[in-house]
Amino acid sequence: MADKKIILTGDRPTGRLHIGHYVGSLRRRVELQNSGEFEKIFIMIADAQALTDNASNPEKVRQNIIEVALDYLSVGLDPEKSTLFIQSQVSELTELTFFYQNLVTVQRLQRNPTVKQEIQMRGYSESAEENANKAGTPVGFFCYPISQAADITAFKATTVPVGEDQEPMIEQTREIVRKFNSTYGDTLVEPEILLPDNASCLRLPGTDGKAKMSKSLGNCIYLADEPETVRQKVMGMYTDPLHLQVSDPGHVEGNTVFTYLDAFCQPEHFDKFGSCFQGRKASFEFHSLDEVKDQYRAGGLGDVMIKNFLFAVLDDTLAPFRARRHELEKDIPYVYEVLRRGSEVARAEAADTLAAVKRSMKINYFDAGVLDELIREQSEKYK
Ligand code: ATP
Ligand code: MG
Repeated sequence: MADKKIILTGDRPTGRLHIGHYVGSLRRRVELQNSGEFEKIFIMIADAQALTDNASNPEKVRQNIIEVALDYLSVGLDPEKSTLFIQSQVSELTELTFFYQNLVTVQRLQRNPTVKQEIQMRGYSESAEENANKAGTPVGFFCYPISQAADITAFKATTVPVGEDQEPMIEQTREIVRKFNSTYGDTLVEPEILLPDNASCLRLPGTDGKAKMSKSLGNCIYLADEPETVRQKVMGMYTDPLHLQVSDPGHVEGNTVFTYLDAFCQPEHFDKFGSCFQGRKASFEFHSLDEVKDQYRAGGLGDVMIKNFLFAVLDDTLAPFRARRHELEKDIPYVYEVLRRGSEVARAEAADTLAAVKRSMKINYFDAGVLDELIREQSEKYK
């Protein structure tokens, strides 16, 4: 089996991408893309997966394909180095899913903690049959970990850079690969998850400080937000409820403003934005985030100063993306051409894997040479 390194990862086109996506997966993808260590990189816009819980709103999914593609290109994914494609255009993936379904039990799917949580979040109810007002879980949604295994294995991916919520999906994929290979012979590649190495990026909380930042929860700072919007969202963030007076000691743990600083702040930001800490009543000179945290814990450092600094840091990161996006928005035909060409390349790759899967399962009855052998074998039986 191949020891070349291949990446597959992607996003659901259910909205524009946000800073949680950026630190959880996108930033790493761009680094890996530019490292030159990977032979192939596939980045998928998972429209078919998005439809599993948006069946009644297909227009939302259709509209967001271009949004996700624009976000991809604006953060630095490069179509010369990475294949960007649309999941539904690679029909081989559904065929793989169909065969993999036989290797997974309903009970195993029911144990998937991320899917469990997502079912709860979407309000799908077990009592849907009895209660017409309640929606049950769509079968496709319930099975999406299997379709994700098809996505990953179709591209022979060795490496899947994703956020922490995806851990159960990669584990499910690994189980399917092992089951397939032991049943039908070595065919599929077992992938490894690549989590962000910075703990605050594993599952970035929303601006409400509660759940994970998620398109479906409306607690996001989007990569494409204009500076004024970002500023308003930052200024409205929860910090430490016990930090009532500036002089009170503050808490850093569980304080979303600090979580975002952990995720985004770089050493050079202290030189660039030191003026955020120069106030009328108090001024500070910091050289590292640890110094800021120490002062916050000791008291005397106000939330507004920290938020001004966070806004400056975020804007420093987002401004180049925004500028590139504005350019790309003027050339929509180019963006669709990237996706069209990428989908063609992806399709050829997935077809290659599907052929191998069918060979291993011996359901390639009409392949060259196979039919002759089959006829010989079966004729023998009836002699
Ligand atoms: P939806 O609500 O439609 O599921 P989402 O915001 O969860 O959308 P996905 O498209 O499901 O986004 O996730 C895409 C990628 O981004 C995955 O790798 C996921 O792990 C990562 N990701 C999503 N949200 C976060 C977050 N808040 N922190 C870190 N990574 C995240
Ligand atoms: Mg999600």
